[in-house]
Amino acid sequence: MTKLFSKRLSFQSRLLRGGPECHSHPLVTPLVQSTTFIQEQLNGTNPFAYSRVGNPTVSALEQVLGDLEDTGPAICFSSGLAAETALFLAFTKAGDHVVCGKAVYGGTIRLLQQFLEPLGVTTTFVDATDPTAISAAINERTKLVFLETPANPTLVLSDLRKAALIGHEAGCLVAVDNTFLTSGLQKPLDFGADFSVYSTTKLLDGHSTALGGAIVGRDEKLLDRLRFTRKSIGSIQTPFNAWLTLNGLKTLRIRLTRQCRSAQRVAEWLAERNAIDSVNYPGLESFPQRDLAESQHLGLHGNVISFEVRGGYEAAVRFVKSLQLCRLAEHIGSVESLVTHAASMTHADVPRPQRIAAGISDGLLRLSVGLEPPREIISDLRQALKCARQPDNAVKANVKSESNGQLVAEVGG
Ligand code: PLP
Repeated sequence: MTKLFSKRLSFQSRLLRGGPECHSHPLVTPLVQSTTFIQEQLNGTNPFAYSRVGNPTVSALEQVLGDLEDTGPAICFSSGLAAETALFLAFTKAGDHVVCGKAVYGGTIRLLQQFLEPLGVTTTFVDATDPTAISAAINERTKLVFLETPANPTLVLSDLRKAALIGHEAGCLVAVDNTFLTSGLQKPLDFGADFSVYSTTKLLDGHSTALGGAIVGRDEKLLDRLRFTRKSIGSIQTPFNAWLTLNGLKTLRIRLTRQCRSAQRVAEWLAERNAIDSVNYPGLESFPQRDLAESQHLGLHGNVISFEVRGGYEAAVRFVKSLQLCRLAEHIGSVESLVTHAASMTHADVPRPQRIAAGISDGLLRLSVGLEPPREIISDLRQALKCARQPDNAVKANVKSESNGQLVAEVGG
């Protein structure tokens, strides 16, 4: 698809268009599993040589993801964390420094604190809702500002335009984890960021079947550095996962619209409950950064809500045990409604004081709203809230399905 033609197409049509066509003109992008490619001659014209470096199916996904942000091809990785790892390895070395929001996905904190720090790359975690805190944390060794907005799982926002300005004035690169909204609802590059970073495992695939990550950017030199890093550490996405994600992407717009609208309804319902202590959702009138949400998000505010059930951790345990429709699983953005307990799951590896300081209390639950009718989701939450108020024995009697299992002590994905 030529760039000129693609510019006239809607977001939805770009999603459906898929990758470049091949000789036999299949409607659906073919899955090319071959690890290697025949060369007609030495230094020939075949753009593909070996699938760790590039693969036609992965390349098709890269074209679509880049196109959605009006750039050249994205770079796809084996997972969201593989994308982040490549980013940090590509642009920092021993002695360098990173500034990162303190409320981000727990795996990002683990990567920076427990993996990169011993290699000599230090990180300052800041309240990224406050641009002056970002600015104050930057020093002469800082190479990268890494933000996640909305942040996982507190949903707090960073002002992308201000953060990009601050980072660039100090000579740093600015990367934004855009997993919670995708390019359908937020375009970090348009606010000046250098990179949009994704766990494609989440909303972009949408069906809980394909792990993957991606980085989108505009500067070819920086992208070349990332491709070199990916080739060197061997972290490209598998063709099969890229193929699944290409197919999942076709319904992204429809899923986003439906799931975000349902999330809005569910968040409003939760906000009115006495049995709920707090609800975080950028679409709520009461959301503290409401204006920023309106100016940065493209009309909808994502499908993820977080909340605290009155009664703290014990009540959260009873609530989760009692859910019948929404399942306990460490994931967001899928077509099924899923609940995660941040402290024991996504943020299990973050030390408790650091977790609490980031606003992630012991009882905080995250709900990723799926495609079920919102009234059924609400009805499940209502009965679980009722159970959460009762003593444990009564709760057990109310549990119809054992499929949710126990609130696990440590999953730590
Ligand atoms: N970024 C965010 C916001 C996430 O929620 C996650 C995973 O939960 C990741 C990155 C890591 O992605 P992956 O699980 O694909 O490695």
